Amino acid sequence: MSSNPTESVTRDQAIAAVLQRWFGFATMRPLQKEAIDAALIGRDSLVVLPTGGGKSLCYQLPPLVLDRLTVVVSPLIALMQDQVDGLKLLGVPAAAAHSNLTADARAELRQLAASRQLRLLFVAPERLFQEEFLRWLRGQQLAAIAIDEAHCISQWGHDFRPEYRRLAELRQILPDVPVHAFTATATPRVRKDIEQQLGLRDPALLVGTFDRPELTYRVLPRQNLTDQVAEAIRRHPDAAAIVYCISRKDTESLASALSQRGIDARAYHAGLAAGDRTQISSDFRAERLRVVVATVAFGMGIDRSDVRLVVHAAMPKSLEHYQQETGRAGRDGLPAECLLLYSAADGAKWRMVMQRSSAEGGNDPEALAAQLDLLQHMQRFAGRARCRHRALSEYFGQDYAAANCGACDVCLDELDTVPGGQVIAQQILSAVARTGQRFGSSYVIDVLRGSRNEKVLQRGHEGLPTFGLCAEVPAMRLGNYIDQLVDDGVLQRSDGEYPILQLGAAAAAVLRGEREVQLLAPKAGLEAAPRRRRRGGSSAGSDARELDGGEQALFDAMRALRRKLAAELAVPPYVVFSDATLEELARARPATPAAMRNVRGIGQKKLETFGARFLAVIQEHRGHRPAEAE
Ligand code: ADP
Ligand code: ZN
Repeated sequence: MSSNPTESVTRDQAIAAVLQRWFGFATMRPLQKEAIDAALIGRDSLVVLPTGGGKSLCYQLPPLVLDRLTVVVSPLIALMQDQVDGLKLLGVPAAAAHSNLTADARAELRQLAASRQLRLLFVAPERLFQEEFLRWLRGQQLAAIAIDEAHCISQWGHDFRPEYRRLAELRQILPDVPVHAFTATATPRVRKDIEQQLGLRDPALLVGTFDRPELTYRVLPRQNLTDQVAEAIRRHPDAAAIVYCISRKDTESLASALSQRGIDARAYHAGLAAGDRTQISSDFRAERLRVVVATVAFGMGIDRSDVRLVVHAAMPKSLEHYQQETGRAGRDGLPAECLLLYSAADGAKWRMVMQRSSAEGGNDPEALAAQLDLLQHMQRFAGRARCRHRALSEYFGQDYAAANCGACDVCLDELDTVPGGQVIAQQILSAVARTGQRFGSSYVIDVLRGSRNEKVLQRGHEGLPTFGLCAEVPAMRLGNYIDQLVDDGVLQRSDGEYPILQLGAAAAAVLRGEREVQLLAPKAGLEAAPRRRRRGGSSAGSDARELDGGEQALFDAMRALRRKLAAELAVPPYVVFSDATLEELARARPATPAAMRNVRGIGQKKLETFGARFLAVIQEHRGHRPAEAE
């Protein structure tokens, strides 16, 4: 970094001025300052921040201070277009260069470029390497090349894109231009890979905290899927939600079950016609659609920042995926909930899928072992009652200081130790043993619950001493206890299509009472909304209090206005103002344009464009008592 103190003071002032004027922010999030400093002195950097951590500001702000162009490499056209729309509303000359440009957009781009006004240009990697484009680039005074979603360059990541590979050539092509790489993928192996492949020179390594304090994590045993998902959605009235399923078929059936209950939900997966997919994602972004039930195909490119709930209807195959998908909640820094509905059968299903696809793909035992290892970490996370924030942080190699996170099912004390759990565990083990360790969990449950069905009677199992011992425990609950015993290694479940239960190494000790087992069950009644927590750090001015009735009414009215303006401008609503900005407006109720400028996220240009319309709505709500507003 620069050692000249005067220089760095002026630089700080320049940054602060641009931050206020263009972005309307008074403070920076952790590591934004460091990333921007690196860009301003022309040093390479690798910036690793979680989703919602504020990576875009790190490459959007420096070109405005330097009055030069930054080229941003981005994997998806949808992602680029949203950013360009957002930047234009801030008054920043920005454009995207991709093959779907309209003739107008192309003309505008050419004109901006020729006048040297352009500050941010987004390109897909394949476009970057077209000869004509490269020739043009060489003639520009570039501030930097920023590589968004830089983990796409790495095979070790979860989202490898072969077209990113060529970015390794950039260093040779433009040797003097600083390169800044951005990613939310935390694993050290991916980080190293990015650094090496891009040939970063003595980069500033800026790795943020991966914990997302504003997210409340819950893991519940999957019992009645539709009921559980519907209940979670109802905990977040009017809010956007994403529900992830493993298979296309599951997305369809769950979306239709939810629709039958009056929830505005659509299925999304790679098997839909391209037109349908575009329609659904644009409806979701425009707030015309509340709930998307999707496979992992839905995600990248969905930058809607006000997603308040992400449900996993089944367990994902790695914690990397889980972190990435839950990361789509609460990007605006406001509280959001992540619910995982888990059954140990999910693990068996993934194992089968992985083994099959490995066999089809020519059997790379090392790759398969790596996948199974990732899966096991995921399963351990889901199956154990350990603070979720702590478990995630530690998995990604970071310490977690707080003893109680206050934002997960474990720390919120939503799980109960089942009274008499040891005895129930012994009954389950003995039922497995007495039926000869030859059956799957549903049969064992039949025996324990005293079901006199044909299969049980045929085998004479109604005469076993364990028959009917757990008659009063619901079958779903018993199934979940079995899952917990499998996770503890007390029971083993074989792989394959019809997994059978067998005694694990610790079973004998449990049966003799030498080893204690605790079974957990969720407490009844999760109706309460999750606690309101916000992103900490330097997001000054945030107020942890929930909106009161009058503020909520004003907030809703401003959301409606935002939706209307966005439709007029053909941009997604969140680029007009974020929910965080609307919340602050609802609390502060500024009466003048000057007062409005003090609200986070309202810069000069947005004040000019939207100020009057929002002031009018605030004016209408002034003096309204909450009772009248309702
Ligand atoms: P990422 O790309 O890391 O996922 P974004 O760049 O999309 O995150 O930022 C997430 C949200 O945080 C956006 O709504 C953005 O406007 C907001 N944000 C970024 N930096 C700041 C800041 N310094 N102060 C307040 N809000 C910020
Ligand atoms: Zn916790």
